[in-house]
Amino acid sequence: MEDCIFCKIANGQIPTDFVYKSDNVVVFNDINPKARVHMLVVPKVHIKSLNELEDKELMAELLQTVKDVTKKLGITDYKTLINTGRGAGQEVFHLHIHILSNS
Ligand code: AMP
Repeated sequence: MEDCIFCKIANGQIPTDFVYKSDNVVVFNDINPKARVHMLVVPKVHIKSLNELEDKELMAELLQTVKDVTKKLGITDYKTLINTGRGAGQEVFHLHIHILSNS
């Protein structure tokens, strides 16, 4: 989507140091971290929120990515968060999973 910041990050239009990258998913650090580690797991394809996620393989890959990236970084204790909808605090309308850890 043209004006979506996470689309621009995911497709390389905005140079970003990715923590992890696959054909379908990217992971990068949150610009305004709320914990010592604060990463975002983002599908490359534009999906507005969890409510619009239909692809079950992508669903699985997103969670698998959370597991793989935290394991690779040696993070065993962490929170995951998906804000869905403005009323729940979603600010960027491109699906993302927050990973937060202070350990
Ligand atoms: P949410 O409130 O769940 O939509 O979270 C959006 C998150 O995206 C916030 O934690 C922001 O700090 C983060 N964010 C916004 N713009 C960028 C950016 N350009 N690079 C990295 N993180 C961003």
